[in-house]
Amino acid sequence: MNQDKKQDDQQALTARLSRIGHKLLVLSGKGGVGKSTVAVNLATQLAEAGYRVGLLDVDLHGPSVPTLLGLQGQRLAMEVDGMIAPIRLTERLSVVSIGLLLERDTDAVIWRGPRKYGVIQQFLKDVLWGDLDYLVVDCPPGTGDEPLAVAQLIGHGARAVLVTTPQAVAVNDVRRSVSFCHTLNLPIVGIIENMSGLVCPHCGDIVEVFKTGGGEQLALDMAVAFLGRIPLDPGVTASGDSGQPFTRESMDNPTARALLHIVNQVTQPESNPPKTIMKETSTMKIAIPTAQGKLCMHFGHCEQFALVSVQGQAITKTEMLTPPPHEPGVLPVWLHEQGANLIISGGMGSRAKDLFAQNDIQVMVGAPAEAPEVVVKAYLAGTLKNGANTCDH
Ligand code: ADP
Repeated sequence: MNQDKKQDDQQALTARLSRIGHKLLVLSGKGGVGKSTVAVNLATQLAEAGYRVGLLDVDLHGPSVPTLLGLQGQRLAMEVDGMIAPIRLTERLSVVSIGLLLERDTDAVIWRGPRKYGVIQQFLKDVLWGDLDYLVVDCPPGTGDEPLAVAQLIGHGARAVLVTTPQAVAVNDVRRSVSFCHTLNLPIVGIIENMSGLVCPHCGDIVEVFKTGGGEQLALDMAVAFLGRIPLDPGVTASGDSGQPFTRESMDNPTARALLHIVNQVTQPESNPPKTIMKETSTMKIAIPTAQGKLCMHFGHCEQFALVSVQGQAITKTEMLTPPPHEPGVLPVWLHEQGANLIISGGMGSRAKDLFAQNDIQVMVGAPAEAPEVVVKAYLAGTLKNGANTCDH
């Protein structure tokens, strides 16, 4: 592609995105956890709350938004100039899905890497949304090239909503999604735990069938907001199959209330500020309290801090710094002055965490007593195993 074309595309993309208020990327560590269901219901509820909303499904390999919204058989109209007209579902909700471009609903998408990037770019650049308050993007699952393309193309102003199920394996996957967001400077609105408990078909109460709370624990460990739980509800599956967003069908049940709670969380940034670990710089500084060269389990007893600078996925520098004497309130200010964005530690009390948060430093607890670079590498790879908070006073 020549340089002029690249520049034109970038300008067109910037112009398009400048007419959109909030860009929410709905991400999950893997498929089947209800990412599209959350995206559809989030978009529907935002529209019902009076916002102008676009729902963009760029899950190239499994576009399920047409099914969830009963749009099978419909196709997107192309304007003469190659622009794409979204399907106007209601006055305030427009929808575009890769599934609405395929010849048949059953066609598979087999584009290779660069082509996929081009398609995602086209979807972001060439759809005639008009002015929107919210663009909800149903992203491809995982942390590979496709969600990366979406996050990079939207760039500044995008925020992530992460969906997981309570089971440990899915939670580990979303842990990778959290690292993915950190690496890309993509602020995280929060984590949603879907399929959390079961709505009893007899009494309507929520029954804990499997262990729940994995998503909430993960949010706590990784210093990310927890947006709420959605129970496993046969009504959700049925409404997805029938193409009617769940919340439109029935508002007075635990599932609908859970969805509404989540929407309220998402739309009230002042009461639930997006937690971003990385600043608007491409580098990140991770502080690790150490004793004898290894992560020190007791924050207050550490001898030195390792300040590990990270650029993208790579460690660029590790400095060992001796902190000033430990007095209440001193360390947060000092670490802030050193440029730290994140502390990874064995344990820390909630009061101290609050003080760090006030200094723009997020805290992750429960990390093992390893050498700082080993800890940071595991964190970047999304494989850092967080145990319990080893010191909560
Ligand atoms: P993903 O986008 O993560 O692949 P989907 O949103 O397509 O997942 O959901 C997969 C299936 O699970 C769909 O049939 C959907 O209706 C169903 N589903 C999602 N969330 C729930 C829930 N809370 N209760 C019942 N079924 C659900």
